Amino acid sequence: MTEALLSVKNLVKNYAITGGLLSREVARVHAVDGVNFDIKAGETLGLVGESGCGKSTTGRCILRLIEPTAGEIWFEGKDVMALGHDALTALRRDMQIIFQDPYASLNPRMTIGAIIAEALIIHGLAKSKQDLDARVVDLLETVGLRSDHMSRYPHEFSGGQRQRIGIARALAVEPKLIVCDEPVSALDVSVQAQVINLLEDLQEKFSLTYLFIAHDLSVVEHISTRVAVMYLGRVVEIAPARDLYTTPLHPYTEALLSAVPIPDPKVKRRRIMLQGDVPNPINPPTGCHFHTRCPVRQLPLCSQTSPELKQSADGHWVACHLRG
Ligand code: SF4
Repeated sequence: MTEALLSVKNLVKNYAITGGLLSREVARVHAVDGVNFDIKAGETLGLVGESGCGKSTTGRCILRLIEPTAGEIWFEGKDVMALGHDALTALRRDMQIIFQDPYASLNPRMTIGAIIAEALIIHGLAKSKQDLDARVVDLLETVGLRSDHMSRYPHEFSGGQRQRIGIARALAVEPKLIVCDEPVSALDVSVQAQVINLLEDLQEKFSLTYLFIAHDLSVVEHISTRVAVMYLGRVVEIAPARDLYTTPLHPYTEALLSAVPIPDPKVKRRRIMLQGDVPNPINPPTGCHFHTRCPVRQLPLCSQTSPELKQSADGHWVACHLRG
């Protein structure tokens, strides 16, 4: 069995909400509530769930762009949580992130050449100015842009092109793992497919490993080796992509999947409409977090006892008292 490149164990991220004259803590947002998963080298783990379920927070905690409250993160056998500033800077060469909104993450006052060169300079990856320029041109061409784009500014590019710039910047330091944080959510559907195809090509060319975050199961279907579904800060199901799409076990996954369009008009899928909104993560429901919306819940079991994530078939894990 291949060793995991990344292991996330019991990851927790809470945010304190303060109020009053003395700014005392008045509540806590339970953004990530004990998340576990591994990613093997060369695979893509799709991480899916509705807005606010903690998937982006999980991605940022892995790179320690935000500090986790508790838990363990292991990358190539290194304890990421124990790393000091210098070791963390060095590790960021191996772990990069692509953001949902490429425009917000690109400095509008810097040329594209300077944005991509910045990472190469920080990590000492160019021997001379000529070498630096050659690397930038190579990266631009690798992501489908042209060398003359170097001297232009972010506002001169379309959303899809800006995402390609973000990808080139991430690739510059030759990472092993890229956290793709909703990289196509802000793009038109036709452009989404182009960016996903580019990411797949780059994965093969550079042996990359991806954590691909999305709010929609249809987006991650083709790119993912395995898919993890999150609800209110917890992973509720994780399985090889094919198993998850053909035989989902968790009632929440079934509901998400029922909303995914099927290209074949002869195949009909019954839409499962969930009642109510996602509960507030300041005060998540007791027991199974999904019990307030679950169409098959059994009370009081589901409201009193939190189901553990258990393996039901080879590599297929589910957190539900009734399934698996
Ligand atoms: Fe539904 Fe109960 Fe399963 Fe939660 S544990 S998903 S509430 S059946």
